[in-house]
Order: sequence, then C-alpha cells, then structure tokens
Amino acid sequence: MKIAEIFYSLQGEGVRQGAPCLFVRLSGCNLSCRWCDTKEALGGGIAMSEDYILEQCWRQNPRYVCITGGEPLIQTEALLPLLASLAKRGTVIDIETNGTIDFAPVQQYASVCMDVKCPSSGEKSDLSLLAKIRAKDSVKFVVADVEDCRYAHGVMDKHPIAGPVFFSPVFGADTAPIVRYILTNSLPVRFQVQLHKVLGVK
Ligand code: SF4
Repeated sequence: MKIAEIFYSLQGEGVRQGAPCLFVRLSGCNLSCRWCDTKEALGGGIAMSEDYILEQCWRQNPRYVCITGGEPLIQTEALLPLLASLAKRGTVIDIETNGTIDFAPVQQYASVCMDVKCPSSGEKSDLSLLAKIRAKDSVKFVVADVEDCRYAHGVMDKHPIAGPVFFSPVFGADTAPIVRYILTNSLPVRFQVQLHKVLGVK
C-alpha cells in the first residue's frame, strides 16, 4: 500500500470531531481540487506492507483509526485486509472519501465520510453514491461561498441522505454568508470548522 503518513492527533472533522485518532493517510488521488490542503498526498508515498502498518497502529493502540488521503479507495483491494484486521480488534474505523469510487466494499468494516465536491473545488463527486450512505456514515460539503451552499442544498433536495450532513467552510473563507444561508434556509446540517486548523495541529 502507498502511504503518505501515519500520525496521531485529534480528529478535526465529522461526527468524531475532537476524538484522539490515529490517521493513516494513503497516497494518490484521482481528483485535483482547487483548494486541496493535502497536496503532499497526491502522489508518491512510501510502500508499506499491511503488517508494518498494523505494527504502527498497535504501537499507539488507538480506539479509533481514520483512513484518509489523497483518495484511499483507489487502493481498496489492498485496504480490505487491513480494515479486517483493525475491525477484528474492535477498532472504530472511519474512511474519508471524495465520493467518486464505490465505497460499499469497505462499509462492512468502517463508517464512511463522503466529501461531496462543490463547484468551487472544480471537481464533481458521483452523487448516485449518496444512496449508499447509512445512518452511521456521514456527508461533508466543503463550501467556499453561497454558490457552493446553493449547490449543496440542491443535492440534498434531490438525494435524501440517511446520515448526518456537515457544512465545512474552506479554511479562510468568509463564513458569515455561509452561516446566513444555513439559517435562512433552515438546512438540516451542522456547520463545522476544521478543528485541527484552528488548533494549528495536523
Ligand atoms: S479529493 Fe481530497 S486529496 Fe484529492 S485533490 Fe481533492 S481535496 Fe485533495
């Protein structure tokens, strides 16, 4: 498996925001978002065996592991045995994905956090995948402006989403119009800033 980094920090986003978490960041991505904040994970990476990754995990003995990227699901085949080993130990697992690759094969082991790409990213997710989101999964819209909010609103109207939905502003964006949009339209979402960026940690 190609890995960009393995590190221990607080989860900055989603339903487990603030929880201690071991992050396994896989290398490589099939998209090129305008405001990508993990450019170091877009290519290259270090080849690591499943045993080596598990050894790093057990050393920290985390209750919770987040598999992220890049786009981790471009390595789904190699990822499945790792997920099975983590799940066998009772580890809580989240997988962050850009919503372009079918995540059904990993849902037996993990909760999925689908990042639905908005117009400001210059990319697009596969919206048909929203039908596969369960109550234990979640959806995130990274929004830069009101146009992104309108897009996300339209997606939610057309695609009922079973799990919690987050609006996460692009770091540094003007948040006031985004908050106003959520309140004016009484959107069933949670506004959430990226905690790790506020704290200045990874
Ligand atoms: S999907 Fe994620 S990792 Fe890939 S380019 Fe977009 S923001 Fe970066």
